[in-house]
Amino acid sequence: MAHKTEALFRDDAYLKTADATVVAINERGGIILDRTIFYATSGGQPGDVGTIERADGSRIAIAATMSGETKDEIIHVPAPEQATPALGERVKLAIDWERRHLLMRMHAACHLLTVVCPFPITGAAVSWDDSRVDFDAPDAGFTREEVTAGLMELVRADHPIFIRLITDEELAANPGLVKSKNVRPPVGTGKIRLVCIGDNALVDSQPCGGTHVKSTGEVGEIHIGKIEKKGRENRRFRIRFGSMPAA
Ligand SMILES: [Zn+2]
Repeated sequence: MAHKTEALFRDDAYLKTADATVVAINERGGIILDRTIFYATSGGQPGDVGTIERADGSRIAIAATMSGETKDEIIHVPAPEQATPALGERVKLAIDWERRHLLMRMHAACHLLTVVCPFPITGAAVSWDDSRVDFDAPDAGFTREEVTAGLMELVRADHPIFIRLITDEELAANPGLVKSKNVRPPVGTGKIRLVCIGDNALVDSQPCGGTHVKSTGEVGEIHIGKIEKKGRENRRFRIRFGSMPAA
């Protein structure tokens, strides 16, 4: 039976620590808790790493976090040769915050890229040092200097980034909200999580379950490392941190 883990990061992506209770250990040693701050790999964003501190103060290193049988079940995968906590044990969670914050900045940067390049999205992968978004676009029609300038304009404007929940019906009435060509947001749960940018979401809003920083200013300096041609109809944009290296 799949467990339902309370995903604390959905309401507050800035939680670095939390208490939780062990509810199950799966057949491969994965730890399942009643609640967690560890993001599970999904939507192109890698899962968190960190530690689970046991009641006796010893620590279990967590090497990966993923979904289980259902999206609601979150599995904390220990590094090799870690102790196994007891069922019902109270534990303290700590994520690798430095890494997660880089992922939150990068993930938000990917949203900004879809504002600057308003084409259907065919794929995306967020990483802490280099992210990519693939667009269905025969020819982007602009240079990486132009796209970088557009991104940095949004960063400097320091727009708020926030979550809004809408109903399946509201989403059905606004099909333009979905920019992804292949991935449809899950419907039927009653609520869709929209990631909104700008006052009244005037800059952008799209369904997303990931973690993002709370303002575009917090993304910081970014640039387009490369625009690659991936087939006749596809362009892959790579985002990196820092200013664009001089050519
Ligand atoms: Zn997102």
